[in-house]
Amino acid sequence: MTIHELHKVFLESHSVSTDTRNITANCLFFALRGDNFNGNEYAKEAIKKGARYAVVDDPTYHSDGETILVTDTLKTLQELANFHRKYSSAKVIALTGSNGKTTTKELINAVLSVKYKTVATKGNLNNHIGVPLTLLNIKPDTQLAILEMGANHKLEIKFLCSLVEPDFGYITNFGKAHIEGFGSEEGVITGKSELYQFLLSNHKTVFFNGDDPIQREKLKDYPNKLGYSQDDPNLFKIKSLGAHPFVALESHGIKIQSSLIGNYNFTNCCVAILIGDYFKIPMVDIKIAVERYQPKNNRSQIIHKNDNQIILDAYNANPTSMKAALENFAAMEGENKTIFIGDMFELGDTAAKEHQYIADLAAASKFDTVYLIGENFFNTQSPLLKFKTFGDLSKHLKNRAPKGSNVLIKGSRGMALERILDLI
Ligand code: ATP
Ligand code: MG
Repeated sequence: MTIHELHKVFLESHSVSTDTRNITANCLFFALRGDNFNGNEYAKEAIKKGARYAVVDDPTYHSDGETILVTDTLKTLQELANFHRKYSSAKVIALTGSNGKTTTKELINAVLSVKYKTVATKGNLNNHIGVPLTLLNIKPDTQLAILEMGANHKLEIKFLCSLVEPDFGYITNFGKAHIEGFGSEEGVITGKSELYQFLLSNHKTVFFNGDDPIQREKLKDYPNKLGYSQDDPNLFKIKSLGAHPFVALESHGIKIQSSLIGNYNFTNCCVAILIGDYFKIPMVDIKIAVERYQPKNNRSQIIHKNDNQIILDAYNANPTSMKAALENFAAMEGENKTIFIGDMFELGDTAAKEHQYIADLAAASKFDTVYLIGENFFNTQSPLLKFKTFGDLSKHLKNRAPKGSNVLIKGSRGMALERILDLI
């Protein structure tokens, strides 16, 4: 079956699934393989649950009229997604960067959906499987698609761009995330910049942070760009009004009070405003959309419990976002500041150094109490309270849990520090 023919089948099926737990009637099931599973084994079940066809790549599971046999299911999924993207008339905005992609994607979607039919990446489906699945969510009436692209190695963004063929792109920041896979900070910059390379060679438009020296430098000879800035009068002007604790800003005479904490969310809001303005959405409507947006999934949420005001930022952490969170918390008003910070993963050889750096920063910041959690923090030289395991912390907190405090909780996803909410 050619991709063209498969696309016809897809259009009749309306949706795609890769998980037999989420089969919808008449969908196209793609039997993917993982380290610990072989989707081919689930083809029969998918059909039983209502899938129109199952796409398989193991002849043992092929059955006429029920399955479509291909050489490589994942490749076929990606090719189909690219075919569908070319077929669609929607304009596509691609996002990448070390931190803030999901938040930015959701803010942009909140703003653009005021006036347009949009499709955006669901949650965090930003890899070689999630990106094609998002492309396949583009409907005939979709006008704008906002796609998050994640990467932890060089050439991943280049590959995702070849599937997505974005019309517009934005890089949130170049930070110290996934150093292990990229090799170095320079590697991160080169890797993320593959999005700029694609847009440049295809004469597409870049949105950028005009106050980020790396972005300015990378784009200095690039003609099709639109930036926001606090300082550069030639760019779209947005002024920060601080984060006390919610990020507030002003653009073109309109004040916007977001529901996001952390100065780092300032730029995330800026690009949503810039893009909204580019797509001719009135600033008053942009304001309402940004103000209504509430972060989800442990990303900088504020929770009140036992007289504590808790900033729960347990979704993920790396040295850049950790430093930003500590500085932000230190600058916040309020007394009795307690922080729980957990190990940062995927730092490769730099792990010991980066954990020491953050431990030193936390010690110098004069918080009332600091809890360092995890093996990496445990191995730092630090006068702060250190706990090798979550269990150790849990034991320590019995009868000593903070009350009436301002609390910050931040750590890598694998640390699952949201569990602290049960302890305090
Ligand atoms: P992932 O790589 O897991 O997809 P992401 O890039 O999508 O992450 P978000 O989920 O939006 O990022 O945010 C995760 C955390 O990153 C936030 O809770 C916050 O601590 C931090 N963060 C968000 N935006 C920025 C930013 N612009 N600069 C630095 N840190 C940020
Ligand atoms: Mg994300």
